[in-house]
Amino acid sequence: MSSQNNSLIRPVLTLVGNSRGETALAGLRDGLASSRRLLRLAGTLAGTKTPASAADIVLYRDFEMELMSRNHLNLVCAWPGIIERYVSFDAAQAGGTGTPATVGAPTGEPAHYPARLVAGAGPLTNGENIFLFMPYAVGVVSTNPADHFSMELIDVGGAIMSQIVWPGVAHLFEPGSQLEIIGDTPPGLPVERAIYAQSLLHEAGHRFGPWRVIPAQAPGMALGPHFGSFEFDTLGEISTDAMAAALVPERPDLMRVTALQRIFAFARRGFSANPTAARINEDNDSWMGACLWKRFRSAGAIRLTPFGWEWNDAAALAVYTALLNEVDAIGRRILGRTPDEQLAQVREWMNAQLPRDANGRFVLPQCLREAYYAMRHLPEQPSIRPPVALPITTRNVEFRINGNA
Ligand SMILES: [Zn+2]
Repeated sequence: MSSQNNSLIRPVLTLVGNSRGETALAGLRDGLASSRRLLRLAGTLAGTKTPASAADIVLYRDFEMELMSRNHLNLVCAWPGIIERYVSFDAAQAGGTGTPATVGAPTGEPAHYPARLVAGAGPLTNGENIFLFMPYAVGVVSTNPADHFSMELIDVGGAIMSQIVWPGVAHLFEPGSQLEIIGDTPPGLPVERAIYAQSLLHEAGHRFGPWRVIPAQAPGMALGPHFGSFEFDTLGEISTDAMAAALVPERPDLMRVTALQRIFAFARRGFSANPTAARINEDNDSWMGACLWKRFRSAGAIRLTPFGWEWNDAAALAVYTALLNEVDAIGRRILGRTPDEQLAQVREWMNAQLPRDANGRFVLPQCLREAYYAMRHLPEQPSIRPPVALPITTRNVEFRINGNA
């Protein structure tokens, strides 16, 4: 019997009962290092979209998807060649005025792993969260690079595409554009392949430029977790998505998947409760989606025609390239300034991107509201149903809401 079969029969590695986050972190790191397929995380976990709460989940590490996605990127060039583009961009942009991130920045492949939810309860399984970032997810603060890695709930991303984004595209775009957008990912070919390949680029981009966060923020950047976090996170997200699009232009399919996810899913979350602004004043991913829409409309990346919307790859790429240069220039300019000066300059740029109400709060552009109204038959969150029922430790109301009780 192969060792892989053994691991499937005696599969579950329980990482933490009610013990400390450090135990969970070490257990998960070891589980990943020893190539375990099934990883159980029980205890207090924080997602990127939900605060720390009781959770008990079993993840299936998808080695095949990881390999498929890396091969997908290798069609462009091998990883060292891709990361060399980031290094070159960062050094060129620094231009002697800032500190290039490349000094000490990791250039290997991101420690980011795709996984599927096979069992569980709570906010990590309800479709709100796509990522688990360690060590933050288990409440640990650590400067040890080995403690910084992430898991992507790849089936949640896939469900967002199949339940929200693709139906939205089919509903709103004219047939030729639908073919161009969806034609790269026809039924039967997993869209997770593109989502995870895009995530590898996205995580790599978080290491470069003035908005970088891995392994640390840029020297002189005063914005961050404790001051101006919404603005910092927003420009950081724009920066890394724009790097992926502009530095790897051979894969417009990845650009489309991430752009349409942001516009159709992330910026739309909360629309039914707040049709004026959804969550764009609170959620950096949402704000960026609305900003992308506005820029795409202005540049002709999305054109409204009597037959439906039209998509234009070249115009979308030009938008991303412009965004990259703008946020990079702002970032370089503010490094070393006082926190208030930094925030003021970023707010000035953000205020010019989206309309605002009388109180200065951002609102959704009118034509985006109309699009979201036209999509009202589609869910705002994907429905996720882990297939395995276990005697979950948090077997309570949350579990019944998840539909597995
Ligand atoms: Zn990010």
